[in-house]
Amino acid sequence: MRKVCVVGGGAGGMMAAIWAARSGHDVTLFEHNDKLGKKLFITGKGRCNVTNACDTEVLFQNVMKNPKFLYSAFYGFDADACMQFFEKLGVKLKTERGNRVFPLSDHSSDIISALTYEMRRLGVRVIMGAHVTEILISDGVVSGIAYKEKNEKKKASFERVILATGGVSYELTGSDGSGLKLAAGAGHTVTKLFPSLVPLYIKEDWCKSLMGLSLRNVEVTIMDGKKTLFKEFGEMLFTHYGVSGPLILSASSKITQRCSEKQYELFIDLKPALTREQLDKRLLREFEENKNKAFKNSVASLFPSKLIPVMVALSGIGPDTKVNEITKQQRQAFVELIKRVPLTIEKTSDFREAIITRGGVSVKEVNPSTMESKIISGLFFAGEMLDLDALTGGFNLQIAWSTGYLAGVSV
Ligand SMILES: Cc1cc2nc3c(=O)[nH]c(=O)nc-3n(C[C@H](O)[C@H](O)[C@H](O)COP(=O)(O)OP(=O)(O)OC[C@H]3O[C@@H](n4cnc5c(N)ncnc54)[C@H](O)[C@@H]3O)c2cc1C
Repeated sequence: MRKVCVVGGGAGGMMAAIWAARSGHDVTLFEHNDKLGKKLFITGKGRCNVTNACDTEVLFQNVMKNPKFLYSAFYGFDADACMQFFEKLGVKLKTERGNRVFPLSDHSSDIISALTYEMRRLGVRVIMGAHVTEILISDGVVSGIAYKEKNEKKKASFERVILATGGVSYELTGSDGSGLKLAAGAGHTVTKLFPSLVPLYIKEDWCKSLMGLSLRNVEVTIMDGKKTLFKEFGEMLFTHYGVSGPLILSASSKITQRCSEKQYELFIDLKPALTREQLDKRLLREFEENKNKAFKNSVASLFPSKLIPVMVALSGIGPDTKVNEITKQQRQAFVELIKRVPLTIEKTSDFREAIITRGGVSVKEVNPSTMESKIISGLFFAGEMLDLDALTGGFNLQIAWSTGYLAGVSV
C-alpha cells in the first residue's frame, strides 16, 4: 500500500483517486474549493455530457491535439468502460443525438455524487479548502506536497502525487492555472495556452441585430485564405458580439493563431440541403408567386423573420424593388449569398468563456502508458492540465476519465 496524493477534485482527480484506492492504496485528495467537481457541475449546461458512446477509433478522431498520446488511456478505459463505471455506481445514463451520453436525470450533480460516494466508500480522505503550493521532490523523486489550509502553511509526505488541476478556463470553477505552475516548478514544460471551444467575435455590425437567433441545420465553413479549415453542419447562435453554439465552438478549435495575425473568414450556408441550382429554382418559384410584391416581402418562407432584413440588406437589391424587376443576375447573386453568407472573425473569446484550454503539460515528458512524469519519479498527471483537447460531444470528459483511470491504476 502506497501513500498517494491527488491534487484536484475535478473529473480527472476524482477518477484517479477512485482507481488508486481500488488498487489498494492509501489516498488523500486535496481540493482548494469548498466543493468537489465545480466545473463538472456546469458541464453540458448542467446536464453533464459524460462521454460519447462511440467506437474508440472515433474518440481519437475527435481529439484535436496529441491523440496518439491517449492510446493506452483510451484502450484502457474507453467510452463503454466509462458508461459501465457510472451505471455500476447507480447513475442511469441515456444516449442522445450525436452519441452524447448524459445522466438519465439530466443532472450533473448525480455524476458528482456518484464519484463522491465511491471515494467515501473506498476510504479516500478528501481535504477541502487546501491549496497545494508545491510538489516536494528529493533526488528526482516525489516526497510530498506543501499546501495552504485556512492560511496555514502545511506539508505532507506522499510516495506518489497525481496532479489533476485542470486548465485555465472558467477560472471561477477553481482551474486557476496554479497546477500548471506546480508542474513547471517540478521541471515540466508547459506549452502555450490558448482558449479553445470558444464563441467568436465578428466584425460585421449586423450580427448584433440577430442576437438570440439560433440557426439549425446550417453549414459553417472557416477559411484561412484559400485553405478550408472547417466545414460542418449543425446548430449555431448569434450573440451580442458575434456567434456561438455547438457548431461555432467546434469550428473555433481550428483557429490556432491570433486573428490580429491572420485573417480568418467564416461562411454560413443557410440552405446546405439545396444545391445552387435547386435553390435558384426555389427562388424562382417564390418570386413567381410574389411577383407584384416588394422584394423585402417576398422571402418570408426562406428565412426566420429576424434574418429577413439582414439578408435583404446584404443582397444589395433595394428592399422595395418589385420582385418582377429583379434581374437574373441579381437573383443568382442572392443564391450565392444564401449559400455563402460572409462573416469576418475579429477574435476568439477568451479563457473566461473557453470550454477547454489548448496547451498544458507537454506530453513528450509524460509516459503515455502510465501518465507518470519522465522527469520526476512518482509524479503523475491526469485531465485537462495535459496538452490534450478535443471537440464537444463528451470527448473532453472522456480524456479526463481515461487519463485519471490510467494514473490511478499506475501509481
Ligand atoms: C461550461 C463548460 C461546459 C463543459 N461541458 C462539457 C461536457 O458536457 N462534456 C465534456 O466532455 N466536457 C465538457 N467541458 C470540459 C470539461 O469540463 C473538462 O474537460 C473537465 O472538467 C476537465 O477535468 P479536470 O479534472 O482535468 O479539471 P477540472 O474539472 O477543472 O478540475 C480541476 C480541479 O483542481 C482544483 N485545483 C486546481 N489547482 C489546485 C491547487 N493548486 N490546489 C488544489 N486544488 C486545485 C480545481 O479547483 C478543480 O476542482 C465543459 C467545460 C466547461 C467550462
